[in-house]
Amino acid sequence: MHNIITIVGARPQFIKAATLSRQFIKYGINEKIIHTGQHFDANMSEVFFEEMDIPTPAYNLNINGVTHGAMTGKMLEGIEKILLQEQPDGVLVFGDTNSTLAGSLAASKLCIPVIHVEAGLRSFNMAMPEEINRILTDRISNLLFCPTDTAVQNLKREGFDSYQVQIVKNGDVMQDAALYYAQKAQEKSRIISQLGLTDFVLATIHRQENTDDPVKLQAIISGLNNINKMVQVVVPLHPRTRNILQQMNIKPSFTIIEPVGYFDMIMLLKHCKLVVTDSGGVQKEAFFFGKHCITLREQTEWIELVEHGFNRIVGTNTDLLQEAFQYFSSKQSDFAVDLYGNGRAAEVAVAEIIKN
Ligand code: UDP
Repeated sequence: MHNIITIVGARPQFIKAATLSRQFIKYGINEKIIHTGQHFDANMSEVFFEEMDIPTPAYNLNINGVTHGAMTGKMLEGIEKILLQEQPDGVLVFGDTNSTLAGSLAASKLCIPVIHVEAGLRSFNMAMPEEINRILTDRISNLLFCPTDTAVQNLKREGFDSYQVQIVKNGDVMQDAALYYAQKAQEKSRIISQLGLTDFVLATIHRQENTDDPVKLQAIISGLNNINKMVQVVVPLHPRTRNILQQMNIKPSFTIIEPVGYFDMIMLLKHCKLVVTDSGGVQKEAFFFGKHCITLREQTEWIELVEHGFNRIVGTNTDLLQEAFQYFSSKQSDFAVDLYGNGRAAEVAVAEIIKN
């Protein structure tokens, strides 16, 4: 494959795409990017393209602010039109968002091979829109790049061995990004001094299952308010969470900042004491930067972090959150374990894409 259409739409996909785009350029592959517009604020989109030198999208569908079904439907229609025009050799999708599903569905219906980076991940929670997106995308993908052994095993358990597909364990492209951009972040970001941060906990909250349930959201806010009495909690707040907190008239006592760019995020991860999050990517990044993580969900796709004692799953239980905070506050861990590859995941993937 030499002509690739890449579909991105949400913040974590820009970060993942940056790693592949760099390799495409290196290997002379012609890549055109479609931005679905799922995330559109400058600090949720533009900043990543600028900082990470991601090629400017050839197309921007500007689809956002509608329900899951409407969003996926509109994207499907928009992407199909472009694919018919461009006739690429393959369509590359990342992760588990509506953009991932719409892109893979549009391509597979046109018999264009689908390449899925971050294939095989499962939370086994079908109430998560992300779980639906990733299962369906995997099923219609032709080239499945799995970040971990667990992801490969998940596909095998679902019978993928008997399908005409190629499964490759390439490692985690987010590890590539963390390694590649850490130095640049160190040079460019001023966030630690600007905010005068010394001892702090970094937290992020945006998962729909948490933000859309007032009881759960209130529990998370109370838990973080409690921790904030002992050590400063800093939260770069996702726009969805911000809107809901405003609607519910909840005013947290911890430090809220606007969503930050990737360089600032790296510096926050590097300097924090501990991470509390419901994000998928941030759980791993905590590990990349040698920090323990408390996960505000009932399950995780990144089970190896829990098995190694780097991550604790607490759901939205404030007692468990408190307990995990106390436990990790005094725990020392050796993070020098190779769980996600050596920072060459994108290179391995692109080498494989070229062969197809
Ligand atoms: N991130 C960022 N700025 C922020 C919050 C997160 O750059 O203010 C990055 C984070 O470092 C990670 C990615 O966004 O690389 C994770 O995205 P998110 O948590 O939105 O999605 P998920 O990983 O849960 O799909």
